Amino acid sequence: MGPMVEIHNVSEPGTGKTALFGFIGVPAKSRWTISEAVLKGLCRQQLVRLFGQDAAEPEAEYIKDWATDLFTATEFDLLQEAGHAMPEPVPAKGEWSQEMTGIASEWSPQFSGYLAGAIASASTGVQRWLQQN
Ligand SMILES: Cc1cc2nc3c(=O)[nH]c(=O)nc-3n(C[C@H](O)[C@H](O)[C@H](O)COP(=O)(O)OP(=O)(O)OC[C@H]3O[C@@H](n4cnc5c(N)ncnc54)[C@H](O)[C@@H]3O)c2cc1C
Repeated sequence: MGPMVEIHNVSEPGTGKTALFGFIGVPAKSRWTISEAVLKGLCRQQLVRLFGQDAAEPEAEYIKDWATDLFTATEFDLLQEAGHAMPEPVPAKGEWSQEMTGIASEWSPQFSGYLAGAIASASTGVQRWLQQN
């Protein structure tokens, strides 16, 4: 039901505080149709559904909207649906076939758009380069 599509425990051990972090799975231009206060309320309701009434009164809550960061999101990014890009296909034929290895996250068949995809693609690229040289 959302609006958060992933929720992670980011509590610092030993602090006695519980901290949760979630990604809101609604495209930027849709979530901008409601106020931040309403959006926070919807997130809180979701946490109450998941964790019970204790979650209704957090000590603090923040929304960080990367879509408004000039150096993070472009106009084109705002047109994208929520979620991650499909991995780039490696050219199967033609003169670039077997000549290119994508080492960015978006080339990862398993984890496109994640840090894990960046590591996997870079590892594959380095291994391939070492084999060829
Ligand atoms: C706001 C935000 C939050 C995210 N949160 C998460 C998360 O919680 N978990 C997760 O797994 N992933 C997350 N990601 C995704 C993750 O950050 C990326 O998938 C990952 O950083 C991609 O790594 P990369 O090496 O493929 O590319 P990048 O990290 O983008 O590295 C590419 C580098 O190439 C440089 N570059 C570009 N063009 C040129 C050029 N012409 N010449 C020289 N250098 C160039 C760029 O400056 C950049 O340093 C998030 C991304 C964003 C934007």
